[in-house]
Amino acid sequence: MMTVQHGLYINGQWRSGSELLTVINPATEAQLATVAGCDALAVDQAVQAASVSFASWSQTSGAARGRILRAIAAGVAEQRATLMQLQSSNNGKPEFEAAIDVDDVIATFEYYAGLAEALDEQQDRPVALPSEDFTARLRREPCGVVGLIVPWNFPMVTTAWKLAPALAAGCCVVLKPSEVTPLAELQLAKIIAASGLPDGVFNLVCGTGLAVGAPMAADPRIAKISFTGSNAVGVQVMQRAAETVKGVSLELGGKSSLLVLADADLDLAVELASGGGYFNAGQMCSATSRVLVAEALLPEFLQRLTARAEAIQVGEPSQEGVEMGPLVNQAQYLRVIAHIEAGKQAGARLLCGGERPADRPLGYFLRPTVFTDVPLDSALWRAEIFGPVLCVRGFASETEAIALANDSEYGLVASVVGSDPQATERVANALQAGLVWINAPQVIFPQAAWGGYKQSSLGRELGPWGMQAFQEIKHVIRAA
Ligand code: NAD
Repeated sequence: MMTVQHGLYINGQWRSGSELLTVINPATEAQLATVAGCDALAVDQAVQAASVSFASWSQTSGAARGRILRAIAAGVAEQRATLMQLQSSNNGKPEFEAAIDVDDVIATFEYYAGLAEALDEQQDRPVALPSEDFTARLRREPCGVVGLIVPWNFPMVTTAWKLAPALAAGCCVVLKPSEVTPLAELQLAKIIAASGLPDGVFNLVCGTGLAVGAPMAADPRIAKISFTGSNAVGVQVMQRAAETVKGVSLELGGKSSLLVLADADLDLAVELASGGGYFNAGQMCSATSRVLVAEALLPEFLQRLTARAEAIQVGEPSQEGVEMGPLVNQAQYLRVIAHIEAGKQAGARLLCGGERPADRPLGYFLRPTVFTDVPLDSALWRAEIFGPVLCVRGFASETEAIALANDSEYGLVASVVGSDPQATERVANALQAGLVWINAPQVIFPQAAWGGYKQSSLGRELGPWGMQAFQEIKHVIRAA
């Protein structure tokens, strides 16, 4: 077991707060660490440090910021094994998934280093005006001190998607990791501390949502909150932020569909359903938890998917060959079990899973689960489950499939499997989702936008949009 760790990094200093967070390993239920997080003053001091540092950091060149982002990427690469181990033990994800996370973090810092470097040349570009009497130039300036609040399902990844573009833009940061999974971010903070970033530009405050997140959302010195988490909390953050008219970016829940068209390769469809539903034990905002299958393929698909689900190796994330680890904690485990039980009560037919594996009495393990005949008005069909649960349903026509997929308050991602390029493109265009994969797993690139329609998101992360979220636009117009 680790010892008590400092949970505050403020103005270049590590400190302990009065609130003790117990961090567990969800595979064993054993305590991994105790993190001494926020006390009443910490948020205030972190915001103050960031505000003071903003005067100089906002004036640094893009090239200088890019150098530091590259140093952070190099530091993460150097500590890849340590970070993987922390991700895996604290979140419960198998090591191959933790490796994907760490590599994503490296790619994100590298990508925004490039965008930061390109800023110098783009700054003060002339803007054409329909008058010879005036000239104009455009500036993109950092929006100020920003608050970043992240969840537990992809610790460090959701952080990197906010932190790298915020620093690239010239913002100063107060980061709040999830109280459930702070260990990877604490390690990342040590890497950042050694990267040459001036004190006060990056500050980290561990603690609960109420102790840390809520005061961040309310603080008038914070110009923008970038939040990833549940819809319920996202709404609260937005309400608090409204009082000081601060900018808000939200990445929230999802209820995404995988559409298997009549000419689909069934092996591929089963692999994509399994990956979209069971990666990270289904604890993904982008989980393709609804699987819509052309009626003619449905019986064969169900049989193959169930066989695949039953064959998935569930176990200790550090063990070789393990494909799915535990859910992140007891609360999440009980939430998912409650959804499964409510689904059964509502008349949904359970084909496999729905309970803990017989050989795993300890840890928050759940067998990969497949339901069919799920009533369209049930919570199982409509709500975000955030666990390894797939709901499969047949459709008679492309129109019906699109209508079923779009019938949700969410619109984060979608996937389409089919052989006819025209049909798959047509369906992709008709889906209300921010990212659609065709015949592809859920690959993510820093260059492509992340975010969705409807109640899934407000704004977009990654790509140039991710950095623009932390910039103000200024036009300077001069009489010629
Ligand atoms: P959560 O909303 O409970 O917590 C998210 C963060 O907000 C945590 O750091 C938490 O401490 C903090 N928080 C809690 N109460 C707060 C308050 N009143 N004010 C400010 N901050 C507060 O979410 P979670 O359970 O950690 O994560 C799961 C959720 O995250 C799911 O709904 C999932 O869909 C969503 N998510 C979305 C994306 C995306 O990109 N759209 C990515 C990952 C996770």
